[in-house]
Amino acid sequence: MRILLTNDDGIFAEGITVLRKALERFGEIYVIAPDRERSAAGHSITVHRPLRVREAGFRSQWVRGWVVDGTPADCVKLGLEALLPEKPDLLISGINLGPNVGTDVLYSGTVSAAIEGIINGVPSVAVSLATHDEPDFTTAVVFVQELLPELARQVLPTGTLLNINIPPGTPRGARVTKLGNIRYVNVIDRRTDPRGRSYFWMAGEPLDLNDNDPDTDVRAVKEGFISITPVQIDLTDYLFMEKLKRWSLSWSREEFPRGKPAGLDLKLKERA
Ligand code: MN
Repeated sequence: MRILLTNDDGIFAEGITVLRKALERFGEIYVIAPDRERSAAGHSITVHRPLRVREAGFRSQWVRGWVVDGTPADCVKLGLEALLPEKPDLLISGINLGPNVGTDVLYSGTVSAAIEGIINGVPSVAVSLATHDEPDFTTAVVFVQELLPELARQVLPTGTLLNINIPPGTPRGARVTKLGNIRYVNVIDRRTDPRGRSYFWMAGEPLDLNDNDPDTDVRAVKEGFISITPVQIDLTDYLFMEKLKRWSLSWSREEFPRGKPAGLDLKLKERA
């Protein structure tokens, strides 16, 4: 098996290091990860400056690695289009330090790396340890090792990744879940710097908006279960699409001048 490992915590983070060492004997391992922590980088890519890549120099005959001064999505793009000799059979992003559940997956560099994988047709899995306190990656590594033969047997649908969250401690089992809904409260902390100017620090406490829904990833992790969510990248709302088609938005090219919204000319005049 040819496996591409990446993350958003940086190539020297503990999570990706223990995973790399554990997977060595499963096949050809390629590690391509950011040179520093890029958590919450989302799916951003670097297009306004050059990307620098250097070999990580791991002391193993089965592992090759590169350090990139870019984002997780940059790492996957570089890997697939420039660095790997052949397309990998699997991409694993992680093991992230901290949970990636619910709405947070949209900000997550860990999940975005897996999304970049499936965009390019590579089966992809994102793995996160759902705690920041005294992290122990053992269970997460064991779970990934157990998942590998299953992933080799099964077929993931095109455009779908697995987002896995491992609870701290000994899990009570594993649950297939859906994404929950998290909002953060007290997000912006306004502080004052030594020169008397304001600055802002974004953090906040998560609030589970679907607290009474037993099927969410948020709930599974809270109850001590490993959470496995199939996440797809097609954000289209198919149900609403049909209703939207019935809105009166049927401008054709010929009608367009007449169909110009009333008030547009007025606005332009006001500005002039
Ligand atoms: Mn991270």
